Amino acid sequence: MTTSPLFYQAGPAMPEVSHGQGVFLWDTQGKEYLDGCSGAISCNLGHGREDIRDAMLAQLDRVAFTYRTQFENAPAVALAEALVEMTEGELEKVFFVSSGSEAVESAIKLARQYVVARGESRRRHFVSLRPSYHGSTLGALGLTGYQPLEAPFASITPGSIKVLGPDFYRQRDDDRDAHIRRVLDETRAAIEAAGGDTIIAIVVEPVGGASTGARLVDKAYLEGLRALCDEFGCLLIFDEVLSGVGRTGTWFAYQQWGVAPDLLTTAKGLGAGYYPVGALLCRSEIVETVMANGGFQHGHTYAGNPLACATGLAAVEAIRREGLLDNVRARGAQLQQGLESLQSRYSWIGDVRGLGLLWGVELVMDPVERTPFPAASNLFAEMTALAKEEGLLIYPRRPLNGLAGDHFLVGPPFTISESEAELLLERLSRALDRLDR
Ligand code: PMP
Repeated sequence: MTTSPLFYQAGPAMPEVSHGQGVFLWDTQGKEYLDGCSGAISCNLGHGREDIRDAMLAQLDRVAFTYRTQFENAPAVALAEALVEMTEGELEKVFFVSSGSEAVESAIKLARQYVVARGESRRRHFVSLRPSYHGSTLGALGLTGYQPLEAPFASITPGSIKVLGPDFYRQRDDDRDAHIRRVLDETRAAIEAAGGDTIIAIVVEPVGGASTGARLVDKAYLEGLRALCDEFGCLLIFDEVLSGVGRTGTWFAYQQWGVAPDLLTTAKGLGAGYYPVGALLCRSEIVETVMANGGFQHGHTYAGNPLACATGLAAVEAIRREGLLDNVRARGAQLQQGLESLQSRYSWIGDVRGLGLLWGVELVMDPVERTPFPAASNLFAEMTALAKEEGLLIYPRRPLNGLAGDHFLVGPPFTISESEAELLLERLSRALDRLDR
């Protein structure tokens, strides 16, 4: 039993971190780890970046904190402009926060205030997917479709109408199109059952994160959701807390399917692990309507402070300057190939899916039936521990009541080189060799 006063989650004792450089971390015993999941898919630029440090120090020398209702600050304006530019102007307004959960809470509250301002206060439901993950605060948890996290709080979260999202791995429909049609029909039925005029918004992750192991949606599905929103007069919200800011090879994942949302949340990689920064982006008409009706009744103390925004801005500028989105795509293709070749060696790697530098690997007991291992076998934890022993960090999740097997995410920093990506695959392969199934 540790004597530390910190408590997070039950789990094996952890090594103490010493320092990091590039895609590597070292513990105080001198052991090296390749950061194959960018911390929590957040350290997008790797560790020990001098340019980020310099930008942070320069801002600290000027001023670290000012409150958003007292001063305009140049880094916040510049970062907001950069985010709008990333959406190519599709989303024109930005509201800063300090985490993904806060971004999702902000989206929930802005969307609700918008429909109220339009005289549609009967709209009170959100529709979200099962499985999904939208955050740990009660509003965001209410949208989350992930049973182990939902269960203890089910009676005290606002909740949402949960519908199944597309699952191109487990679907038993005739083909992809039929599957999408069925999923959309079920979504429509759930909306109609609740009453189309009671829906505020549909909320989806264009690329699932840890809850689904990088499960993808596709163009026809997103177009279908957009059409449902238009028909029922509700909003479309994309949660890109994990997939945003370049992780999938475009600034935002939705851009790969060409279907734009009304609101978008992002966080994690925006501060690149150097400082917490999150943002809600949205169409200007939504903001104008809310502002004309008493203003947005929401905010967090540290939101959009100068140090946070200077850090985010330095991170975005580094991605631009170094052309890192190209590297995300190139190394992503390399990882895809490597993971698929591992899949051909181990029958219990059921599925490999992802985009850019966000890959999910799902482990199954029976590759034909795609049956997950029993939850009690804790395979995800064993796999993560073995990878760590081999000097590789991955981001794991337990199986999901028949909806997904044990899975883990591979998502290294955007700066990873070709030889480092090879090393990642080598260490993963050694861990898989030791996972005796
Ligand atoms: N939404 C998504 C899609 C996420 O992946 C996460 C974090 N895993 C969150 C929201 C919550 O973000 P945070 O942990 O920064 O509150």
